[in-house]
Amino acid sequence: MKDPRLVLFDIDGTLLRTDGVGTVCIVQALEEVFKISIDTEGYQTSRKTDTQICLELMRQAGRSDDEVLNSLDAMRLLYLPLLAKEIAEAGIEVFPGVRELLDRLSGCENILVGLLTGNIERGARMKVEATGLGDYFSFRAYGDTAVERKELPQRAVNKALVETGRTYGGKEIVILGDTPNDVECGRSLGVTSIAVATGSYTREELSKHDPDHLFEDFGDTEAVLSAILGEGQL
Ligand SMILES: [Mg+2]
Repeated sequence: MKDPRLVLFDIDGTLLRTDGVGTVCIVQALEEVFKISIDTEGYQTSRKTDTQICLELMRQAGRSDDEVLNSLDAMRLLYLPLLAKEIAEAGIEVFPGVRELLDRLSGCENILVGLLTGNIERGARMKVEATGLGDYFSFRAYGDTAVERKELPQRAVNKALVETGRTYGGKEIVILGDTPNDVECGRSLGVTSIAVATGSYTREELSKHDPDHLFEDFGDTEAVLSAILGEGQL
């Protein structure tokens, strides 16, 4: 039997590309809830959770965090139908090798495969299910329960303990993502970090953050599997 692994995938830029439709919908929903116009010129979203994006945009508009957190439910009610519509119109591209990799992982014993994402829960599910990838993920740790991305790995470990009775630690935890934040977020837990250059960062930029493994994309299934499971385990 293979050694246990808790394998956590980021969504946007890692599994699929939605060309920022999620952020456009967040902004539209916030504008509607707060009856204001939001300027997103130069605002960087790619390394942030949805909740963090809401807080930061509304701070710029002079609103308090309490006011924003109290309005998140109203914002979500508007955001989800907007996102569904955008996804249907814009479509979603799944990156090369992703389906093959998830197929192979689903056939491995002792491997818990999940999503680690800054997306609001139902929005994340919508994106993944629209591409037919939903069934591969038995385990989910979402952004609407944690404001900062760096809090997500520990929450995922806690949730895995509740669901499986097992405490995953160190290199048994594998985080796959497309940004420096994905590489850094599990550093304090000593996880295995796997970076992929299919998102908004180049291979060169990602390599500066010293991930354990770095790929152009997930096209080479055997190489990525070997990185996830540990050399010599195949
Ligand atoms: Mg990403």
